[in-house]
Amino acid sequence: MSEGSPHGDANQGDVKMTEAGAKSTELFERAKKVIPGGVNSPVRAFRAVGGVPFFIKEAKGAYLTDEDGNRYVDFVNSWGPLILGHANDELIGVIQNAVTKGTSYGAPCRAEVELAEKIVEWYPGLEQVRCVSSGTEAVMSAIRLARGATGRDLIVKFSGCYHGHADHLLVAAGSGLVTFGEPSSAGVPAPFASLTRVLPLDDEAKVEELFAREGSEIAAVILEPMPANNGLLLQRQAFLQKLRDLTKAHGALLIFDEVISGFRIAKGGAAERFGITPDLATFGKVIGGGMPVGAFGGRRELMKNLAPEGKVYQAGTLSGNPVAMAAGLETLRILERENAWARFEELGTRFEGLMGPVMERAPIPVEMVRVGSAFWLSLQEGEPPRTAECIDPRAAEYYRPIFHQLRKKGYSIAPSAYEVGFLSLAHTPEHIDGLAAALDEAFQIAAAETQGANG
Ligand SMILES: *Cc1c(COP(=O)(O)O)cnc(C)c1O
Repeated sequence: MSEGSPHGDANQGDVKMTEAGAKSTELFERAKKVIPGGVNSPVRAFRAVGGVPFFIKEAKGAYLTDEDGNRYVDFVNSWGPLILGHANDELIGVIQNAVTKGTSYGAPCRAEVELAEKIVEWYPGLEQVRCVSSGTEAVMSAIRLARGATGRDLIVKFSGCYHGHADHLLVAAGSGLVTFGEPSSAGVPAPFASLTRVLPLDDEAKVEELFAREGSEIAAVILEPMPANNGLLLQRQAFLQKLRDLTKAHGALLIFDEVISGFRIAKGGAAERFGITPDLATFGKVIGGGMPVGAFGGRRELMKNLAPEGKVYQAGTLSGNPVAMAAGLETLRILERENAWARFEELGTRFEGLMGPVMERAPIPVEMVRVGSAFWLSLQEGEPPRTAECIDPRAAEYYRPIFHQLRKKGYSIAPSAYEVGFLSLAHTPEHIDGLAAALDEAFQIAAAETQGANG
């Protein structure tokens, strides 16, 4: 889920917006003077749903409290990292202890070795891992490594997958022969984008065609094995297997971007779930426990191309930061001890059970897609989409009133129809029941408010 995934602003129509509190409103006005758009990451500005963003004063467990004292059960969880919920007592204890021993050394420390050992132990096929400070940095570094290791320049991505904001990945499918990339952001030079090929998800034939044409120049194919930044676009096993087979046959690398899915949907991420081992994998979010951490890893034979052993340069002043590493390590330990993945399955199954009849009587089209602790509402007729191209833009119209109604009822979901929701270990069955009841009501309101707009 990414705060970065670029989607348009709302045509706000006459949807009733949540009243913003006085303090959030005042802070937002101040913020807009000194911070572009008033935010440090675009989706936070609520442009897709309209209204003033709430400024958070504090958070604990399942709850967020804003500056005006409103409390929300939170299903955003900082867009993915907070799999334990907010300010987990044990985690905060570990962070506090780490901080007293220094906030950065610029030298190796025990915690980074232990975190790397755990990631290598849990993730299929991984022998080495390097830590960085964000998911974007992890992906950027993995792409450079793939190019350096293969001596090839082209990379292949899929529309509907988000990989952070590195230049070569801020690329959308061009209008020409389908695959030639065009910058999706100002400031990305067209020659950079021309080294990226963009394909639709869920289409083996298109990938085969591309490999037949340019296979010997492709350094890597990168995708979110569980695309979760443009809705939750569940992929078929056969599609992922085709990518594995084609990359192998052509000497290209397969990169799984597991920044969201890693350690969340299974102990070994999507690779474990699908039984497919990529050549490189990127991580972030969960492995930092709310601190800025990313990582990328693969077989030693590939990773040895990185400096200081190899010729691919990559570095970071705060990489392997002792406080961040301690937080990540403790997060993984707690997940394992609590058998978190089974708990999420239980909570998720309960949620689905409750949503069945709610969706049945909803006067708008809605299907829920869920994988473990990640869920998404597909607000369109028919089967949930598997490609970005299949998402009905009208879904955003339905989503807006749902978002605002939930906020009124004290539930926080992402301020965009394209972002997924997350369960955390701080959620109880009661929170889930409350969310389902709030959605029940919100669907009725969404139908009333979008009448006319959507016929
Ligand atoms: C969030 C995300 C990123 C970018 O991570 P940042 O920490 O925001 O830079 C990259 N890839 C995926 C799949 C993500 O969800």
